[in-house]
Amino acid sequence: MKVCKFGGSSVADATQIRKVIDIILADPERRVVVVSAPGKRHKGDDKVTDLLIDCAVRKLEGGDAAPAINRVVSRYEEIVNELGLSGAIVDALRAELLRRLARDGERNREQYTDAIKALGEEFSARLCAEAFQARGVAAAYVDPREAGMLLSEKFGAAQLLPESYGLLETNLAPRKELVIFPGFFGYTKAGEVATFSRGGSDITGAILAAALHAESYENFTDVDAVYPVDPRMSPDVVKAGIGIREMTYAEMRELAYAGFAVFHDEAVLPAIRANIPINIRNTNHPEKPGTLVVPTRKTIPGRVNGIASSRGFSTLFVEKWLMNKEVGFVAQLLQILADAGVPIEMMPAGVDSVTVVFRDEALPESRRQAVLDTINERLHPNTASFSSGLAFIVVVGEGMRTAVGTCARVVSALARAGVNLQMVNQGSSEISIMFGVSDEEMQPAVQALYEEFFSNECRP
Ligand code: ASP
Repeated sequence: MKVCKFGGSSVADATQIRKVIDIILADPERRVVVVSAPGKRHKGDDKVTDLLIDCAVRKLEGGDAAPAINRVVSRYEEIVNELGLSGAIVDALRAELLRRLARDGERNREQYTDAIKALGEEFSARLCAEAFQARGVAAAYVDPREAGMLLSEKFGAAQLLPESYGLLETNLAPRKELVIFPGFFGYTKAGEVATFSRGGSDITGAILAAALHAESYENFTDVDAVYPVDPRMSPDVVKAGIGIREMTYAEMRELAYAGFAVFHDEAVLPAIRANIPINIRNTNHPEKPGTLVVPTRKTIPGRVNGIASSRGFSTLFVEKWLMNKEVGFVAQLLQILADAGVPIEMMPAGVDSVTVVFRDEALPESRRQAVLDTINERLHPNTASFSSGLAFIVVVGEGMRTAVGTCARVVSALARAGVNLQMVNQGSSEISIMFGVSDEEMQPAVQALYEEFFSNECRP
């Protein structure tokens, strides 16, 4: 059997939901359907999840949530009317939204907001289940609580509790009807709604595919394939129609981490656990094969498979003579950052210096001086300083492991484009090389690499 997940744009309106039903009916192996909340119908439109967050924020800040509530409700109302379904589902959504908004949010704002955010997926799945039934399909909405989707209490960025795999298998495998399952949320052991981080419906789909030992996890979105570079950086890639046909889990992890927005970076892990291929496909062109993500693949030496890029990083640079001989220096530095609650992305080091890279929002400017004070007090470095405005470009390809000279090609292309490299980091897996450049140089750098590796290459 296959588990299929449909993203926000695939359930954004009645026309899209009809396409979802056709796709499912075209293959009897498609037995579990995971849906997102309705997304944008066109440029400038709102995602239902964003509207729900707006409702919660307004309530928490004592503002008027009524306009946002009405917009959420009318999104569902429009779909229900166009599909000719009963209005009961819209009444139920309105009542449940008002009930959750009326709770006391002050005790735990994240928990309060999660319960509201999750309604987007819950009612999207309820609505889709009715739409399938109206087409004569035996389909049932399945509540994540009944199914055993247990999550940690890290509201807004929850993690799956491992016992869920067994529970989900026991509860879902025997079902004969088509399972329609909401993405993005589950329940804590105490019975509270908790959501994954944004875009987390991908994670739900991957978890169900792993729990049910699916033959494949089909992730339907709105692109024909994963592009080797972000089309916002190099629009030519869309015109050229170059998509990645196949990549490995490791390549996907690297690319998704550094800004490939088509697939949530945490969603690869459940698939790896159960060795399930992921097929990223287009709801609007289901005849296209899409991109396949597999455990291993044949590689062409030197072939770069994708170039990801991401802005919004800061660095902490610390230098101290003979740092290499001071036992525990880096451990203490990391402890200071851990005490400040900063997750670390990377840590290139030299003989007497170390640079710690983290995301801007992990340590706001206002808290940085206090961290510097602690470092100076405890570690007595020559210098310690923060800087912002760093972007990363990650060149990924299993084929780089077996060829000499890919790094030279990258660096020459960047030099020709006049890009100043602030940092270079090659992971020991040798399937990726990471370059730190300034925010402003990220786009020209990606374009230069696109031209070097893709625009002139003939790809199958
Ligand atoms: N609706 C949620 C979001 O916008 C989850 C998802 O679509 O995957 O983040």
